[in-house]
Amino acid sequence: MVRYKAVFRCFAGCPGEYPLTQALYRCPSCDGLLEVSHDMEALRDRSATSWMKLFEDRWMRTQWPYGSGVWGKREWVAPEMPDDCIVSTGEGGTNVFWAERLGREIGVPDLWIKLCGNSHTGSFKDLGMTVLVSVVRQAVREGTLKTRVLCCASTGDTSAALAAYGAAAGMPVAVLLPRGRVSTAQLVQPLSHGARVFALETDFDGCMAIVQELARRELVYLANSMNPLRIEGQKTVSFEIVQQFDWESPDWIILPSGNLGNAAALYAGFKMMRELGLVAKIPRLCIAQAEHANPMYRAFMAGKDVVEPIQAQETMASAIQIGNPVSAPRAMVALKAMNGIVEQATEDELADAAARADRTGLYTCPHTGVALACLFKLRERGLVEAKHRVVVVSTANGLKFTEFKLAYHERRIKGVEAARANDPIILEPDVERVASAIATMG
Ligand SMILES: *Cc1c(COP(=O)(O)O)cnc(C)c1O
Ligand SMILES: [Zn+2]
Repeated sequence: MVRYKAVFRCFAGCPGEYPLTQALYRCPSCDGLLEVSHDMEALRDRSATSWMKLFEDRWMRTQWPYGSGVWGKREWVAPEMPDDCIVSTGEGGTNVFWAERLGREIGVPDLWIKLCGNSHTGSFKDLGMTVLVSVVRQAVREGTLKTRVLCCASTGDTSAALAAYGAAAGMPVAVLLPRGRVSTAQLVQPLSHGARVFALETDFDGCMAIVQELARRELVYLANSMNPLRIEGQKTVSFEIVQQFDWESPDWIILPSGNLGNAAALYAGFKMMRELGLVAKIPRLCIAQAEHANPMYRAFMAGKDVVEPIQAQETMASAIQIGNPVSAPRAMVALKAMNGIVEQATEDELADAAARADRTGLYTCPHTGVALACLFKLRERGLVEAKHRVVVVSTANGLKFTEFKLAYHERRIKGVEAARANDPIILEPDVERVASAIATMG
């Protein structure tokens, strides 16, 4: 007997509820965003302590599907999902890295990096994609879909995740990428999984407009985070962060953001934990944007509730090069509820922050570089204090961004000083020469 229940509802509050297995991406009444709404009364049948115990018991086990951090919280994510529809790669359960040296350098000794990039496809996108693809499999079984072609627009990581989960499920995948603006690794990932990859001569926002029209024509099932199923999986990062600190909220969470789905997800997770009594405190949120793609920052600085689309400029933080963020209304709510702020980082600042973190043993993608650069600013301004526990969400694995790192160390990035560049030393294979070079190291 399934006791728990979740449905789609209008995010702005229009009446009506719709099954999760319906291909629905916008409110039929107001055309606004949707959300997944849980039967909170039913979830109150367990005490907070009992939920924590259940989640602890399941944490990263071999018993299917609890090797997944997402499905270990299944009642709070997609409660009616049958085991045999779940498409999982063991996502979630990623380490929180105690950034001891970096934290000491900047005067935040309690600094932690949630390494969401240590995941099957190398980014946090796996958290949401397991839910979306599993629901599609369930819908295919129920016969509720007109198409089973999964499709997304992507800045690189969504397409990598969709292609992997689609391939694991044996479902066709098409991805729309802005040509020349994703890393080599990100391009090769969907190619390897057999997805149909379209490299379009536009930016992410241009790809997004096309995939929405394809979905409207019912040619594809839309896998972007406009689809709130993605948010449901991604919100488990909040549960994990709290669980990994023995069910205590940190003071700050810093999140590199582009389309703003993850900011919405982070709040959705904390809201649920607060309503069900697992946490009393909600951390402050810092939405970190690249200065070249900063529509949320502009709205925040102007004191506006509505995010005006802009033309995003090229940034090395390519996964957040988005000018017209789909989840802006959701993120606005998150920002207010989490007493949040928005900060931005220049290209120089993000590259330098990533290199600085790497020197302390991290291996940082440019987006995490944005988040760290914003943290440095918050610390300097005294908003983040020495006594605060800070969690920076690292959204992708640095190994996907070799071009970025190489360009830095070869001092090839225009306008970036690259003070920490480290070139290989070319020497004859002579022990004395190598020995004398090493002797200077101290
Ligand atoms: C998708 C992505 C982001 C941005 O997440 P949004 O939900 O679009 O704000 C940040 N970093 C990386 C590496 C990503 O892949
Ligand atoms: Zn509505």
